[in-house]
Amino acid sequence: MPGIIQLLPESTANQIAAGEVVQRPASVVKELLENAVDAGSTEIKLFIKNGGCTHIQVDDNGTGMNAFDARMCWERHATSKITKAGDLYNLNTLGFRGEALASIASVSEVEMRTKSGEESVGTRIVINAGTVETQENTATNQGTSITVKNLFYNIPARKNFLKSIAVETKHIFEEYQRIALAYPALSFEFYNQDKNLSKLRGGNLKHRIADLFSVKEENLIDASEQTEIVGITGYIGSPTIAKRTRGSQYLFANGRFIKDAYLNHAISSAYGSLLEEKTYPFFVLFLNVDPGKIDVNIHPTKHEVKFEDGRHVYTLLQSVIKKTLGVHFVMPTQAQLHNATEPPLHREYNPSLKTTEPNVRFNPFETPKQRTSTEWEKLDELLNTPVQQVQQRDIFNETPADKHEENRIFTDIFQIENAFIITKIDGELCIINQHRAHAQILYERYTENQQIASQQLLFPRTIAMSKADLLLYFEMKDEINALGFDTSEFGKDAIIINGLPSELSKVDGADIVVQILDDFKTNFQDLKIAKKDALRQATAKNAAIKAGKALSEAEMSNLVSDLLQCKQYTNNNAGKAIIVKLTKSSLERFFQ
Ligand code: ADP
Ligand code: MG
Repeated sequence: MPGIIQLLPESTANQIAAGEVVQRPASVVKELLENAVDAGSTEIKLFIKNGGCTHIQVDDNGTGMNAFDARMCWERHATSKITKAGDLYNLNTLGFRGEALASIASVSEVEMRTKSGEESVGTRIVINAGTVETQENTATNQGTSITVKNLFYNIPARKNFLKSIAVETKHIFEEYQRIALAYPALSFEFYNQDKNLSKLRGGNLKHRIADLFSVKEENLIDASEQTEIVGITGYIGSPTIAKRTRGSQYLFANGRFIKDAYLNHAISSAYGSLLEEKTYPFFVLFLNVDPGKIDVNIHPTKHEVKFEDGRHVYTLLQSVIKKTLGVHFVMPTQAQLHNATEPPLHREYNPSLKTTEPNVRFNPFETPKQRTSTEWEKLDELLNTPVQQVQQRDIFNETPADKHEENRIFTDIFQIENAFIITKIDGELCIINQHRAHAQILYERYTENQQIASQQLLFPRTIAMSKADLLLYFEMKDEINALGFDTSEFGKDAIIINGLPSELSKVDGADIVVQILDDFKTNFQDLKIAKKDALRQATAKNAAIKAGKALSEAEMSNLVSDLLQCKQYTNNNAGKAIIVKLTKSSLERFFQ
C-alpha cells in the first residue's frame, strides 16, 4: 500500500515559508533594505505605493549580481552569506537564511534588474508567484533594483488581513527608520506615491537622529562606552525630550533592531527622578556583543534576541546610562530636596561632582550656631549647669519597656579627640564612643528589618574577587542586598556594586563589601553566630562612622538621640561599653 506522506512542491513550501517571513508589506521592505545594506550599498532608495500593497521598490548601488546569481538568489536556501552552520555564530550580515527572496517571490509579482561590477551587461528577471517568467540581458548600472508588486495577490486570505494603507505605510516607515538609524553613513531616500518623504545624507549618527526625529542635537547625550561584555554606542535624549509613549526607543543588538522590554527598563530606570512620571526617555542605542554570545536565530521577523549574559547586559546598560546622566545632570541630593528653592531636576551640568554626593545626616532643623568656645570651655560650662532633677532616670538600668524615647535634641554636646561625645543625659555626664554608638544603631536597624535606604552610585564599581570570596558572596548575596546594597555578580570573577546603604555612600563602597565579607568570615567562624546576624554586625561595623571623624553638634545630637532609642545601648553585642557615665559620686571621688 503506498504511503500517504509526500514532499510538498517547492512553490507550496515557499508560500508556507512566506507565511513566516512575509507578514505584511513592511516585512518585504525590511528584507529588501537589509539585502541592499548587506550588498555594500552607499545609496539606497525606497519607493512604495498604497502602503506597499501594490508596489514596493528598492534601488541600491551595491555589488549587484551576475546572471547566475540573479537567478539563484530566488531559490530557497540560496545565500551568499553563510556556507556552513558555524558561520551562524560569526554573522556580520543582516541576512543569512537565504529564504527571504524565495518567500517574497512566491506571494507576489517580482521584477529585478541587477549588474555586478565585473559584468558589462546586466540581468532582468521577472517572477510571478514563484515561477520565473523572463530572464534576459538588460542595460543597467551596477547595483540592484527589485520591485515587488501586488503582494499576496495569489493568497486572498492573507491579502484580507492587511490593515489600512495608512497603517501599512506607518509600518514601512518604521522599518525604514530603523535601517536608516543603524546605518547612518549610508544615504537613504523614501518616496510614497512618487512623493519624497525623506532624504537622508550619509553622515554621523547624531545627525541621522536629529534628521529623522527632528530633535535638536543639543538634546542628545552621547552614551557610548566599551565594557568587557558589551560595547555601547549611541545617544540618549535629555529628559526634556522624554515622550508620553514608549515609541521613541530604539535599541539595536549587533546592528539589528530589537524589542526588549527588559533592557528598555534598564535604560528608563537609570533616569530615575530625572523623568516626570509616565514619560519615557528617547534613546537610540547600539549594543555590540561577541556574535557567539547572542542568539538571533529565533524567528525571522520577531525582534527578539537572546543574550548569553542577559542580566549582565541589563546591569551594565543601566550603569552606563546612570553614569552618562550623572555627568550631564546634577542628580538631586537629599539636602537639595530639603533646601531647594528651585527644582533640582533638569539642571544643566555643573562640574562639581561633590554636589552629587548625598548628605546623609543632613538635618533640616539644624540652625547653624556660631560657637567659638573651645571644647574645654564647653566642658566647664556643662559641669556648671545645675542638674535637672526632674529628668532624672537611670538609663543604665532601664528595660526597653521603660523607655519612651523620642527624638531628643542635645544642645550641650561636644566631641573630644573626634572620637568621644560628651553630653548630659538626664542630668548625668556621659561619654559616648561614637563609632560603637553608630554601629549599634545600624545593627538594630538591620535586625528590625527596617526599610534600609539604598543610594544608587553614579559610578558603579566592580570588584575582582577570589573564587572563595565569590562563593561566599553568592551565598550571602540576598542578605547583603537586603541591607541596602545593590550588588550582583559581574563576569566570572567579579561583582558589581550599583548602590550602597545610604549610610555607606560616603565611604569607599568597593572596599567596604570586601571588608564586610572578611569580617563576616571571622565573626561567623569564630563566634558561631547566625549567618544573618554576623552579616548585620559586619555591615553595621563597617558602615558606622569611625573614631577620628569630626561631627557637628546636630550630628552628635542625632546620634545620641538615636542611640537612646536602641533596645540595647549601654554595651554592644561583644559586651563592650558604648556609654560611660560619670556619676556625681565618681566625679566627687576625683577631687578627694
Ligand atoms: P539572505 O539575505 O538571507 O542571504 P535573501 O533571500 O534575502 O537571503 O537573498 C539571497 C541572496 O541574494 C543573498 O545572499 C545575496 O547574495 C543576494 N542578494 C539579495 N539581494 C541583493 C542585493 N540587493 N544586491 C546584491 N545581492 C543580493
Ligand atoms: Mg536577505
